[in-house]
Amino acid sequence: MVRLMKPKIRLYVEHPLGDGQQVSLTREQAHYLFGVMRLAVGAEIALFNGTAGEWRAEVMEAGKRGGVLECRDQTAPQQMPPDLWLCFAPIKKARTDFIVEKAVEMGARRIVPVQTSFTNSERIRQDRLQAHAVEAAEQCGATYVPEVAGLARLDRLLADWPQGRQIMFCDEARVGRSSALTGLLAEGGARPWAILIGPEGGFSQAERDRLHELPYAHPVALGPRILRAETAAVAALTLWQTYLGDWR
Ligand code: SAH
Repeated sequence: MVRLMKPKIRLYVEHPLGDGQQVSLTREQAHYLFGVMRLAVGAEIALFNGTAGEWRAEVMEAGKRGGVLECRDQTAPQQMPPDLWLCFAPIKKARTDFIVEKAVEMGARRIVPVQTSFTNSERIRQDRLQAHAVEAAEQCGATYVPEVAGLARLDRLLADWPQGRQIMFCDEARVGRSSALTGLLAEGGARPWAILIGPEGGFSQAERDRLHELPYAHPVALGPRILRAETAAVAALTLWQTYLGDWR
């Protein structure tokens, strides 16, 4: 019988992977594989850990509270997304979840929730958002899971900004003007980048002034209409990936 090309179920594990490597499962992973997905001993799934590519693994032990898998062969090499951060001001829960999920699918390296003057929420559930990122990576075939950083204030983030990282500053004040992508393209794709998206209330004038002063921040417009923050995030990721990232 022809063997399935790739196992359908993908699971992210915080465990070394390699030839013959055994991986013990957490209670939640065992519940998912054996309780929800009804897998039994002998079944195959795909594992990735963010550094070692994707591995075909066979179920060796299946229990209610745990289990053991054994790696067989590597089914995909490790693939890192480009060095792109998505910085965004968290909005309502479901919309924030959406942004995290899309950032993973679209290939951001790091996800940075930012508190701006007009940000609606003062807190985020970092662990929940990280779990969303893991789920999105499992679903989209990625071998890397971006880190979801803790909520940082925009002024502090900019004060500690890493040297050389460019900012694609999505500035709603530029709505309807030329997209100004030339500034982006001039920087080329080799550098580290960040996309910055504001909250529903937009950026304050003081924030905008500060950003305009930074030589490494490049204001861009995303067309002639005001987009919701989550739409702006997807649009900006699309543009960046097309011109500077790994869609080229
Ligand atoms: N309330 C604001 C809009 C905020 S939209 C207003 O009416 O002006 C949320 C965020 O999405 C913005 O801060 C910006 O980062 C991004 N955004 C939305 N539409 C945009 C556009 N046409 N060009 C650039 N950025 C945009």
